[in-house]
Amino acid sequence: MLAIRIMQEQGIEVEALNFKTIFTCCQDQSAQTARDLGVRLTVVGQDDDYLDLVKDPQFGRGKGANPCVDCRIYMFEKAKRFMHQIGADFIVSGEVAGQRPMSQKRRDLDRIAYHSDLEDLLLRPLSAKLLRPTLPEREGWVDREQLYAIEGRSRKRLIELAKKFGLKDIPTPSTGCSLTEPKFSKKVFDLIDSPGESRRWDFELLKIGRHFRYDTHTKVILGRDAAENDQLRYAHQLPDAASTAVFAPENFAGPQALLIGPRTDAAIAFAASLMLRYSRDYDPDNALVRVDDQIINAIENDRAKSLETIAMM
Ligand code: SF4
Repeated sequence: MLAIRIMQEQGIEVEALNFKTIFTCCQDQSAQTARDLGVRLTVVGQDDDYLDLVKDPQFGRGKGANPCVDCRIYMFEKAKRFMHQIGADFIVSGEVAGQRPMSQKRRDLDRIAYHSDLEDLLLRPLSAKLLRPTLPEREGWVDREQLYAIEGRSRKRLIELAKKFGLKDIPTPSTGCSLTEPKFSKKVFDLIDSPGESRRWDFELLKIGRHFRYDTHTKVILGRDAAENDQLRYAHQLPDAASTAVFAPENFAGPQALLIGPRTDAAIAFAASLMLRYSRDYDPDNALVRVDDQIINAIENDRAKSLETIAMM
């Protein structure tokens, strides 16, 4: 918001880009923000190659599974293509030097500009006076004197600037990205470390349910509510589904489950026992579970209780 307003103060026309990945997790206010700022907004998603950098980032990760430097390079590569498509002259971002530990250290800002091949077509108006002058500044398209030298994690100067520009509804500081969350990151690392190729379907499933690892090749996901139960069933029917069975309680109220990995008797018993663990009011002698088109009697055992869970959310 601030970067756009700074450009508008200089009479520069701006188009806004909002990047969304499958890990974007908070409520999106970008459409309203764009309306308030009077700019056109384009939402850009990620392609499946984004998952390659999540699995194996070149420039490391933050505290969670977040590969922020690689992610920003990826985003700016897309922004560059968009810039050429619409005939824009340069890119502006709201990054602040030193604001985020993983991707906004000065060295990282340089890396991102270099590896996205934007070099000095990438202007950070909030910290520009601390950085080398970019082409738009050298050419006089932008008046460097009217840019800022904000640095560090404090939001004080940013909030002052927002007030100066009359911006309302200042968003709270949040990455809006599940990859920075410790619990979610645990599931990401578990998926990346498990054998076989993890695809988009597997990553999408990380957002749903409680995840339990049974063995290296096998895990079970339990729905936490009716909506998640539906999502699990839907995911199981998709053409690229990696699940091998879907489970539903037959004569009691409880969660549905998805099995990913070999459909062995032991894995089926494990999934059924987990369902009982998260259910009430079932008959301990006759708790029936539908496994695809088959009905089994799930007898609760202690195995589920003793096995380590990889995520309890
Ligand atoms: S927090 Fe998430 S979306 Fe933001 S740069 Fe890092 S990995 Fe990318």
